[in-house]
Amino acid sequence: MRLRKTVQRTPIVLVVDDTPANLTLMRNILEPQSYKVLLATSGEKALELLTKVTPDLIMLDIMMPGIDGFETLTRLKKIPSAKDIPVIFVTAKTAVSDIVRGFELGAVDYITKPIQRLEALARTKVHLKIQHLIHIERIQSEQIKAIINNISDCVLVSNKNGAIESVNPATEHLFGYCENILCHKNIAELLDYQGRPTDFIDVLLNHDSGDAWWQHPNGKNVKGKTFPIEINVREMYTHDPCFVIVIQDISLHRHEIDQLHHLTETDPLTNINNRRHFEILFAQSWQHCKRSNQMISVLFLDVDHFKSFNDDYGHQAGDSCLQAIATALFTSLSRGVDSVSRYGGEEFVAILPDTDNAGARKVAQIMLEAIEQLNIPHKHSKYGHITISIGVATCDYDADHTRIKSAKALLKLADKALYDAKAMGRNRVEHL
Ligand SMILES: [Mg+2]
Repeated sequence: MRLRKTVQRTPIVLVVDDTPANLTLMRNILEPQSYKVLLATSGEKALELLTKVTPDLIMLDIMMPGIDGFETLTRLKKIPSAKDIPVIFVTAKTAVSDIVRGFELGAVDYITKPIQRLEALARTKVHLKIQHLIHIERIQSEQIKAIINNISDCVLVSNKNGAIESVNPATEHLFGYCENILCHKNIAELLDYQGRPTDFIDVLLNHDSGDAWWQHPNGKNVKGKTFPIEINVREMYTHDPCFVIVIQDISLHRHEIDQLHHLTETDPLTNINNRRHFEILFAQSWQHCKRSNQMISVLFLDVDHFKSFNDDYGHQAGDSCLQAIATALFTSLSRGVDSVSRYGGEEFVAILPDTDNAGARKVAQIMLEAIEQLNIPHKHSKYGHITISIGVATCDYDADHTRIKSAKALLKLADKALYDAKAMGRNRVEHL
């Protein structure tokens, strides 16, 4: 990411010296270089000037009447707006103890008198450059901090054990803890994860390692409420290993996906599975039963004389009839693994995994009776009400795989059994 560029203004240099000739000399050296030069003839005047302007560099004479350069430097470091301005002291003193004292008081460099033009210029340029770089770094660091503090994603920094070291306000908001408490927690405590916290960064970094948690990662807030998240972890290569963890609450996104799934899987009229979803479920159930050597049964169901029902009672009544039938078929199933889907028109299909033919016929009989009990009048039925016919087929893969080679073949058998049920008078169950 490229951050906003900072505007570079003309550098201001403040020269402090009690000798006017030295001030003139420094101005003649610096002004041709496009620096703005401010002059002060004493420490006191320099300190007064610093309450009004903030130069980028100060050249400070040591030997001055009144307060000397060392004292001026000491007082200058106590002015908040001036304490970070680099100071080069200018001295005729060349004793090591004086030079050391200048550095100890916070000066960044020194030049000796008599002033050499090229040396003064070179040192000025170097320290203005350093000051400019520090300024850019500070602005960029403030910009990054502002971005992290204002983004809606949670940004956390942890050590290699997952102990949280810093967080942004979005993290406090999402998890409901204040920063102080978060910084005494392990990242694993914010996630709905059962493993050992000490391994957690490894789990986060190696999310393709097959850990089941990654299929649907969840966060956990202060109230223990869990919510779906997306989580990314990157190692930061600093002097101590640390990790940047970005967490995004995807509750809304997950809800939209769930709604979309529901729409693509559900028949809008009857609110049970549609044919498309049946095809997927049937293929999955077939593969599962084949792998685990279980039997699988399928029921093909058709509403008897439905065309004449529509002709006599109208399509609205036909729709209501199909809705009532779908609900009755659905409530006839007692196990979560069983399913019933609208196959098309007035045809329905049920999948019963791990169920033998006798068990499937029992379920079919319950469905037949459930439809009878609806007691929907139908004057063209010899029973006087709506009925259904059901064909049952079962596959025991080990025994039947030469006869029933695919899920499609099993469905075809159930369809054939349904044909038999129709041929034998309807309102009955036939099996193959
Ligand atoms: Mg002097």
